[in-house]
Amino acid sequence: MKEALERLDALMNSLVEADQTGAGIEPLRVASELGHIRQLLAEAPAVIPAKGGQKHFRCEACGTVVHGNAAPARCPTCGGTKFFAADIEQPFVESGAG
Ligand SMILES: [Zn+2]
Repeated sequence: MKEALERLDALMNSLVEADQTGAGIEPLRVASELGHIRQLLAEAPAVIPAKGGQKHFRCEACGTVVHGNAAPARCPTCGGTKFFAADIEQPFVESGAG
């Protein structure tokens, strides 16, 4: 997962750079790299809903998934502090009560 994110970042940077510098882009090279990234993502472990209503939070930097009712202060793997909800099925928490 981490490698896939790093390669995606690198690819995005190279595309932006190509746009800014007017350098040519090699579509086949980009397609090949995207294929590698796709394979890496396909092999990444899936997120399985936890029992007890806990949520999953994926570290934005390295992809580590942490269970809990709220995002942890720090990623146990890399110490990152930015997380996003990783649950595939988002609970319907919208309510008119209030
Ligand atoms: Zn992390």
